[in-house]
Amino acid sequence: MTSKLLRGRTLSFLRWPEAIDDHTAWRCEEDGGLLIDGGKIVAVGPYAEVAKRAGAGVETIDHRPHLILPGFIDAHVHFPQMQVIASYGAELLDWLNKYTFPEETKFRNAQHGRRIARLFLDEMLRHGTTTVAAYCSVHKSSAEAFFAESHDRNMLNIAGKVMMDRNAPDGVLDTPQTGYDDSKALIAEWHGKGRQLYAITPRFAITSSPEQMEMAGALCREHPDLHMQTHLSENHAEIVFTQELYPWSRDYTDIYEHYGLLGRKSLFGHCIHLSEREADALSQSGSVAVFCPTSNLFLGSGLFDYQRYRRREKPLRIAAATDVGGGTNYSMLRTLDEGYKVIALNGEKLNPFQSFWQLTRGNAEALSVADKVGTLDEGTDADIVVLDAHATPAMRLRMETVETLAEELFLLQTLGDDRAVREVYVAGRPAKSAIAA
Ligand SMILES: [Zn+2]
Repeated sequence: MTSKLLRGRTLSFLRWPEAIDDHTAWRCEEDGGLLIDGGKIVAVGPYAEVAKRAGAGVETIDHRPHLILPGFIDAHVHFPQMQVIASYGAELLDWLNKYTFPEETKFRNAQHGRRIARLFLDEMLRHGTTTVAAYCSVHKSSAEAFFAESHDRNMLNIAGKVMMDRNAPDGVLDTPQTGYDDSKALIAEWHGKGRQLYAITPRFAITSSPEQMEMAGALCREHPDLHMQTHLSENHAEIVFTQELYPWSRDYTDIYEHYGLLGRKSLFGHCIHLSEREADALSQSGSVAVFCPTSNLFLGSGLFDYQRYRRREKPLRIAAATDVGGGTNYSMLRTLDEGYKVIALNGEKLNPFQSFWQLTRGNAEALSVADKVGTLDEGTDADIVVLDAHATPAMRLRMETVETLAEELFLLQTLGDDRAVREVYVAGRPAKSAIAA
């Protein structure tokens, strides 16, 4: 018997909440029920109704008074950087050379890759994140390690071996041909195996030669259903160097455009310093700009103009992400707390419903996986997070004065972290409680 019935306060989004009182944008049941069978959500609604449908004898797990939401989604993260996070004193290019590339060199060792992949996915689940779009290292074995661990956990994850053939130490370089061949082999082995999805992953234009960019474009043409992920317009020195390397380009985005890398499944990390032309190009192609607030603050890269990107005549599709190890926290709650502050520095606000939409349905739509995860819709996979707004003494005290769901969500975002994550379900199986502390 694989079915189980969760009881608690269910919250799921139907669309972007235009305002804090846009009540038809989400559905919340104060005494909700969620019936899971075969790893999928088969019924959701008021507990009494769902319990009747479940029948007697179904295992019931009572999560009251906690909130039951779709699992969080992290749209840009580097799993080999768990021992890079919290590295002091550098901007992007120095940070890559001084800390990141030497660390990623260690992933030549397949055992190291397997160990870090295991610890990384444990950490994601402990923080309530059930889906990531992950960069592996340049080494094929790092992607194999990631997918093997992800598949063991039955998680829906998107990942790819980084392609990079210049401007980095030898230990993290491939060639246009080996980058292509290794990607091809990984796609054949892992894309569509269980819940695994492959992303073609040229690191960024600085570390890929024109020949490698051609190969990345060829992979995208040969596999139009795959994701493509890379970095774009994060830091001023990066932008200047990129344009020196591709002197014919109109701007940074034009390079990716030239090689056929824009599209609805293309994820561009950062997108901070875009020109209007670049934003138009991303918008017209349906490409996704990935907002990584803790990373952008930590590396001093700049302020992503979230609300302006959404509001412009040609709006951008936006995802949110930790960007660990440039990012400073594994938690998507911590990430949206910093996101709120970045948006505030741009003179705007992101209300708590918009934040939680972004963490769940918004990121699922941006990653084109909303038919599977990111909501509590019947028929989707049962990837779920259970949140406790009373998780710490400070949260308990603050909750004494909280009266509305909006206030509770904002408290969770502002004060919450992994301690607020009571349980996580991956395809209906308890995942957080299954991890040894
Ligand atoms: Zn990144």
